[in-house]
Amino acid sequence: MNQNHPRTLLAVLAHPDDETFGVGGTLALYARRGVQAQLICATRGEAGTVSPEFMQGHSSIAALREQELRCAAQHLGLAGVHFLDYRDSGMPGSPDNQHPQALINAPRQEVVHKITRLIRQLRPQVVVTFDPVGGYGHPDHVATHQATVEAFHAAGDPSRFPEDLPAHQPNKLYFTVFSRAYLRAALRLMRLTGRGPRRWGRNQDIDLEELAHDRFPIHARVRYRSVAEVKKKATACHASQLDMGRSNPGLLGLAFRLARLGATETFMRAYPPPNSDRPERDLFLGIDREPSSPPAA
Ligand SMILES: [Zn+2]
Repeated sequence: MNQNHPRTLLAVLAHPDDETFGVGGTLALYARRGVQAQLICATRGEAGTVSPEFMQGHSSIAALREQELRCAAQHLGLAGVHFLDYRDSGMPGSPDNQHPQALINAPRQEVVHKITRLIRQLRPQVVVTFDPVGGYGHPDHVATHQATVEAFHAAGDPSRFPEDLPAHQPNKLYFTVFSRAYLRAALRLMRLTGRGPRRWGRNQDIDLEELAHDRFPIHARVRYRSVAEVKKKATACHASQLDMGRSNPGLLGLAFRLARLGATETFMRAYPPPNSDRPERDLFLGIDREPSSPPAA
């Protein structure tokens, strides 16, 4: 049992803004309930596109985006932000892919080790990360997903990285899954106005038709209406990235607005496998009754 440790929720994500746009409502909700909401962020979003006016007073995109993240973390009520100090790998095919410090070029076991060590240090009961395709295919999201899934199990296995802190097995692992219903609604509107959704985004490399297919089941729905204002304030912290949305007006903005009306964030439960068709409303459901011994598998 975890009675000697405060309830802790750990999100393992890739870039400043991932913590707000995807799971900000959930992090803020649990923080308000007294849960320690912790964030691991693998990079500082160095490959993000930033208009020059946002760079004033900042030595680099990394410094700007770290400050935006710390602003958001304060609003969300995060107990801690932990960087893995890799570099943003950029979208597929961009020169950022080749950078030696890029997350995708790091040895997988090195990334797993860093996340494992933080899991053992922070001792979360619940861990949240990206789905296997990283939401929309960003290579850093996929790499973060893969390393986190391995670290989730490694953290509870005393034979893995034995020189480190004592083993700690979190109880539950969730993948954040963007509810496709809102995207499909926005796509229908887009088709009505005759716009092509297959080559969307600043680099025209995001296929929204493909993205709108449900790939992963939804096992948990967290309603965050009571902290919706907090998520809005945290979103405003990421001004340099919202600017990019403005240059792609319409669809995703519309999808986000529709999603905000629902004030719900959705998750697939990866571990333990779900035993009910009814989506959970609480990521900590059942944890007090479950031992935190290492999984048999
Ligand atoms: Zn990201």
